[in-house]
Amino acid sequence: MDESGAEFARNMALAYKIQEKFLESTNLEKALGSLSEEEKGILGMLQIGLANFTKPKHREIAKQWVKCNYHYWNNVVLKGLEEGKKVVYFFFTHSPEIYYALDLIPICVEFQSVAAALTWMNGGEQGIDRIEAEGFPSHLCSTQKVTMGYLILGKVPKPDIIVKPVGACDASNMAYQWIAERTDAKFIPIDVPYSMDSRSFEYYAKEFKKMAEKLEKVTGQKLDKEKLTQVVECSNEAYEYFLEVLELRKAVPCPDPSFSHIAAAGIMLISIGRPEGISFFKVCRDLAKRNVDKGIGVIPEGMEEIRTLWTNVPILFDFSFYGWLEEELGAVHLFDALDWFFTQPIDTSSTDSIIRGLAERSFNWPMHRQGLGYADTWIDDFVWLAKEYKADCAIFGGHMACKHSWALNKLLSDALKKEAGIPTLRFDMDIADKRFTSIADIKAKVTDFIKNVRESKRRSHK
Ligand code: SF4
Repeated sequence: MDESGAEFARNMALAYKIQEKFLESTNLEKALGSLSEEEKGILGMLQIGLANFTKPKHREIAKQWVKCNYHYWNNVVLKGLEEGKKVVYFFFTHSPEIYYALDLIPICVEFQSVAAALTWMNGGEQGIDRIEAEGFPSHLCSTQKVTMGYLILGKVPKPDIIVKPVGACDASNMAYQWIAERTDAKFIPIDVPYSMDSRSFEYYAKEFKKMAEKLEKVTGQKLDKEKLTQVVECSNEAYEYFLEVLELRKAVPCPDPSFSHIAAAGIMLISIGRPEGISFFKVCRDLAKRNVDKGIGVIPEGMEEIRTLWTNVPILFDFSFYGWLEEELGAVHLFDALDWFFTQPIDTSSTDSIIRGLAERSFNWPMHRQGLGYADTWIDDFVWLAKEYKADCAIFGGHMACKHSWALNKLLSDALKKEAGIPTLRFDMDIADKRFTSIADIKAKVTDFIKNVRESKRRSHK
């Protein structure tokens, strides 16, 4: 067993190096010939659907996505481990700026798990099977199970510190406590209030500040105002491009590929606050703007666009799914519960204003704000999105571990029908484990549904 826990990061860096070679080359044979023996071994483990990235409409965004990921796994994680930097595991409902400012290696547990699911042919199944063999129930969330299993297998680095806003779901809180016990990491929870009012936010902002102070204590470092400002200004710039994309996405037909929406949620967890994060969102904005100016969308010419709103999580075990949705069904993914970040630039005048701004982003983080307490926030947010972005239908791809979302899914679909006039398709699946509901099953359900939506749209236009 590799004691450093660097195996996973090393393989990911190689996986992205290979993808970079294919994206940079126009000659498949040449790209294949340029691979080292080690890279050839990794190539055989990659999902075939990743070849979708080389399609012209994905290529520019895919290059940036690959660049961000390579940089993250190679320069942040691997080099950081070699240099003896401390590892912080963090929950996906906040971003890594503060960790970058403290020169830590930030690893989002859920991103690490999902990265396996969307890269390898067998996803993160080895990790899931290992943790379940330990006696953990299968209905826990795969976005933690993969990392937990990999920890036992020594594939990923052990955390020195763990930061967990305790909102969203109870199962993840228990999973993080297990990780803390198993690894002896310092556990820093951020308490989360139940509602979304200003009093609740003030409470959350205080808790977030406490977390920053504890981090300083645990790392023995003081947050350097200049470094923090530099990181947050980088993240502000990336967000500005992203907010422009959100505006452009209102256009019919939708001007940016569904792939960019899904990838954006990952970039928020690894590259926000870094220059490569800015480049990613700038390329997304440029492409969307070009398409709006030309009045074109991302589905095949001549097809009538069906705009789908994913009211729970996206499918993350098959990155080619949303390309298939566009090409085969003429349907676009507008948003899901993990990828819409309506936020304001952070005031960088003082360390306090920055911490408060980061707390505000986290408070409103997708899934965090909806998962806090009352069902109303989730329902109101999605009714608003449906109207604002002219959704034709909703798809609740219900992640089996998200018990809270299953509890409200009927209220949500009823509200979408009543207030936005759109139907919802509901089915269960696992966000990061293809064995729970197969992609073939999901495609069959979605195909029938989109066919019906298209038909009723046609009838209503008569
Ligand atoms: S996807 Fe659902 S179950 Fe998994 S961590 Fe998020 S809220 Fe919890």
